Amino acid sequence: MEATKKPGFATRAIHDGQAPDQSTGAVNVPIYLTSTYQQEEIGKNKGHEYARLTNPTRDALEESLCSLEGGTSAHVFGSGMAAITALCTMMKSGDHVVCSDNVYGGTGRLFDKVLTNYGLTFTYVDTSVAENVAAAITPATKLVHIETPTNPMMSLTDIGAVARICHAKGVELSVDNTFLSPYLQQPIALGADIVMHSTTKFLNGHSDGLGGVLICTKPEHAETFRFVQKCTGGILSPFESYLLLRGVKTLAVRMKQHDANGRVVADFLKGHAKVQQVFYPGLVEHPQHELAKRQQHGFGSMISMELGSLEKANKFAKALRLGLLAESLGGVETLICHPATMTHAAVGAEGRARLRITDGLMRVSVGIEDVEDIVADLGQALDKI
Ligand SMILES: *Cc1c(COP(=O)(O)O)cnc(C)c1O
Repeated sequence: MEATKKPGFATRAIHDGQAPDQSTGAVNVPIYLTSTYQQEEIGKNKGHEYARLTNPTRDALEESLCSLEGGTSAHVFGSGMAAITALCTMMKSGDHVVCSDNVYGGTGRLFDKVLTNYGLTFTYVDTSVAENVAAAITPATKLVHIETPTNPMMSLTDIGAVARICHAKGVELSVDNTFLSPYLQQPIALGADIVMHSTTKFLNGHSDGLGGVLICTKPEHAETFRFVQKCTGGILSPFESYLLLRGVKTLAVRMKQHDANGRVVADFLKGHAKVQQVFYPGLVEHPQHELAKRQQHGFGSMISMELGSLEKANKFAKALRLGLLAESLGGVETLICHPATMTHAAVGAEGRARLRITDGLMRVSVGIEDVEDIVADLGQALDKI
């Protein structure tokens, strides 16, 4: 029926789910600070009963994020970890999950330290080799969960290839798309069943609120996760839903600049004498550069580099003037972290050795400051090593 072309990404990021308020014409979705809703008569309401179930600000956000990832429903939670926890309620005791061996530290911790207590089992494989996924799937496997690129080694997984393996065996595929955002990678279009984000990162983009989302493709997902929001209550507040809606409006322009700055910084680091190795899918030396070009719409702004030792990493960190030494990523400001003692401390020395996360590795989330200033700051700090 519709002959008109679907609006572009930036247009959808600004308008989808965010029509002007019907009663006042306000161009922004109001923050509905209400826990309950007046009912007209017994058994009759205006579509809202209680704010753990629905809130108009949160509903608007879910519609917006659903549109950007190309799903059929979206469900937001109080943090990325709350979203992954909700994802795992799809399973019951005895079910098995195959997971990338290099996932976000908190994901592995949730799986191994909490969910194994409820009879779920997890197998970790290097999903950059798709055949490893096929070999790890058992009759009990219900879900394959991957991250691409991985943190902090920037290893990629071929989403389409893994999706085909999963679907041939009746298993669902979820993709944590936090590192690229839907602007740079759309896993559902490549075959994923569910996309997950820590919205805390690029989707929010301003380092001022936590959040998580599951974007789904099937009616039974929508039913499950709406029910989970209601039953477990780990939902996103109206205020943080508003912050996220506001952040998403500029996602396209921010990601363009993150990607442009990321490329310049990676090239600079590659040529710097104090940097032993750079991990960035945009470099032709990256072993999966061709895959990055094929499945991503850009390379993003997450870069890791090897400085050689903890002492050198610390000298670099202390000399930074613009870049901020901090956990997290995806903000407008350049954030720099030391995975061995920060994001991957809980993995243990043995685990880090297996993942090749050395004490000299630093991860840079390149911000959208003027790139000359970012390069100058990194350069002066590297020179102090
Ligand atoms: C931060 C992060 C998470 C966890 O999200 P929170 O919002 O901190 O709970 C999960 N996955 C990835 C890739 C992340 O970077």
